[in-house]
Amino acid sequence: MMACGVPMLLASMWAALLRRVFALDVFECPRCGGRLVGVHTGGARLQALLERLGLVSAPPAAEPARSPPRRGT
Ligand SMILES: [Zn+2]
Repeated sequence: MMACGVPMLLASMWAALLRRVFALDVFECPRCGGRLVGVHTGGARLQALLERLGLVSAPPAAEPARSPPRRGT
């Protein structure tokens, strides 16, 4: 099984390393302390889920580049 293109074994080894070195549990939600049960990486199912939850489901529109601000005017 793959997660974000990374084999699950490598992903779990990475998580174990972070927990051991930094005492960081990457599967724990920083807001509520709940456990991460899955990850969406994009696609139509994620967009449908975000819309169902009433959250922003599309990236913001790109704005055109502008000149840097003038100095010393
Ligand atoms: Zn949470």
